Amino acid sequence: MSNVDRIPDYTVAGGSSAVAADPVRELFAGRSVALGESTVVRRVLPNLGRRLVGAWCFIDHYGPDDIANQPGMTVPPHPHIGLQTASWLLEGEVHHRDSLGSDQVIRPGELGLMTAGRGIAHAEHSPVPHPASLHGVQLWIALPDGARHTDPAWEFHASVPVVAQDGMTATVILGEFAGAAAPARATYSPIVGADITVSGGASPLLPLEADFEYAAIATSGTVTVDGVEISPGTMLYLGCGRRDLRLSSDADARLLLLGGEPFAEQIVMWWNFVARTGAEIAAAREEWMAGTDFGVVDDADPPLPAPELPPGTLKPGGSVRRRPGTRP
Ligand code: MN
Repeated sequence: MSNVDRIPDYTVAGGSSAVAADPVRELFAGRSVALGESTVVRRVLPNLGRRLVGAWCFIDHYGPDDIANQPGMTVPPHPHIGLQTASWLLEGEVHHRDSLGSDQVIRPGELGLMTAGRGIAHAEHSPVPHPASLHGVQLWIALPDGARHTDPAWEFHASVPVVAQDGMTATVILGEFAGAAAPARATYSPIVGADITVSGGASPLLPLEADFEYAAIATSGTVTVDGVEISPGTMLYLGCGRRDLRLSSDADARLLLLGGEPFAEQIVMWWNFVARTGAEIAAAREEWMAGTDFGVVDDADPPLPAPELPPGTLKPGGSVRRRPGTRP
């Protein structure tokens, strides 16, 4: 998935000052962003009030969309640096191809984990033909400084652990949850991601790590999380310091639980790049536009051009010095 903002701004995030050390309940509405002609995504992270949850730095929830007579997902080749992408489908299929030569159709219950490291390019399309419904999430994970220049890599897991107990079923996407460990090898900071289904009438108690911060994102139906009702398009930020979390739902509902150790390093995000300075972002943009360093994706569509950089210079610490009269 590519950030499709036509004029993306810098997002500066990270550092312990932004983290809620104790349990909180902060409800955030996602922002609707058009992705191609038939898909609208709900971007719940970054949000004006929260930019990171552990190392999770970007959460797009899309669908369920009826794409029966439509192209569906159409994301031409585009680059990434400094992050991992986790592709997770609830319904439908997505065809991933990248500049390493990876070529994989991803289906529900399967994990595609791409490590951009120093640089990768990929394309994502609904296969032809494809199922009528498309529903999923695209998740980005910021790489810590020691790993962000690593070689690019692609990992695919056709199955991941499923834990069923207490009226809930949890599929462990990354990290460890409820005693089950996900198989992904490429994790660079303590992190967890689980896709949880709550049965109607159940009120399961989820085990959490007290030193992780967490957020819950509803993907289907309405679920009550620590007393707060959430529905698709919203994220409930939960802070740190919890050993467990109560869920309940009148009808079957589904949510994502994402968490991790608070990300201590300050990062700069722009378009599809995660770096530490504006100069690194500008260099990656130049390399992409020059056709160097990211490799080639075998795709019928031409590569996505990078948007223009925002006016002004990004200063250390995150403030942007702008020329007078330019847009914020
Ligand atoms: Mn992408």
